Amino acid sequence: MQLPKEPSPLQKLECELYSRKQVQVFMKRDDLLHPHIQGNKWRKLKYNLQAAKEQGHKQLLTFGGYYSNHIYATAAAAKLFGLESVGVIRGHEPKEHSETLKFTQSQGMILKFVSREQFANKYEPQFLQELRNEFGESYFLPEGGTNQLAIKGVAEIIEETSSDFDAICCACGTGGTLAGLVAGMKGKGQIIGFSSLKGEDQLTDSVHTLIKEYCGFIYSNFKINHDYLFGGYAKWNEELMVYIQQFKQTHGLLLDPVYTSKMMYGVEQLIQQDYFAPNTKIMCLHTGGLQGWAGVNGVIH
Ligand SMILES: *Cc1c(COP(=O)(O)O)cnc(C)c1O
Repeated sequence: MQLPKEPSPLQKLECELYSRKQVQVFMKRDDLLHPHIQGNKWRKLKYNLQAAKEQGHKQLLTFGGYYSNHIYATAAAAKLFGLESVGVIRGHEPKEHSETLKFTQSQGMILKFVSREQFANKYEPQFLQELRNEFGESYFLPEGGTNQLAIKGVAEIIEETSSDFDAICCACGTGGTLAGLVAGMKGKGQIIGFSSLKGEDQLTDSVHTLIKEYCGFIYSNFKINHDYLFGGYAKWNEELMVYIQQFKQTHGLLLDPVYTSKMMYGVEQLIQQDYFAPNTKIMCLHTGGLQGWAGVNGVIH
């Protein structure tokens, strides 16, 4: 396996809607960074892997669900960097492992299944000590991979392209990617995160905290949109599936079912509603996540 390849391409998207509304839309193709270590998951892992190596760690330990893009990317990245990996998985061991879990095991990740209750309290010192006793010392990555080094990796997306965009759009889970883009833009433009999970106030607060810790002060030129959840995390309906298919036909690129499809659906709704003035230059971030399709049982591909 090869290292992810930066910079990722920036692709201009063209269609009737964008020309009618006179907006310019670009897709930053972080989905093309690597077949297995895609999108923001690579950006967030990059400096953490370096730090783990520099600090002499032999093992990464992280957390996630049965279909987690972060668990998937971490397993592949650890192997690529010659590190062992442990995945603490939310919920009891299923009879049949998801494709995601099968892949992590093929990369040598050791899986530990814990109850949902235990998982909700996973950062309690006592539980972390139990993990240390069971697996030995590890470099610790939080769920979703979001920490200060992750912000640094994401901010590079802007250095790699330009801070010349009027608007930057991304999908949000933990908000780490949004925070990194805000940090990279250094006060310019407007950054819009499209949330994929319920819980509005909490997300805004954690993005503020992440930015403040990283930059030393608060940037407020960002917004989180909660209108295109499609029922919540990892939920979808017929309309979203049809949208993904149409988008693929129009632009020749595949969105993922959990994050980027909801972002692009939201972006296009805002364009429809004249949210963006004519001549606005918008960059949307394709954060990858395409392995998530295995969990939809290949409904469309
Ligand atoms: C994890 C993930 C996100 C969410 O990123 P956060 O930094 O947690 O907000 C968005 N898109 C894709 C494809 C992801 O895998």
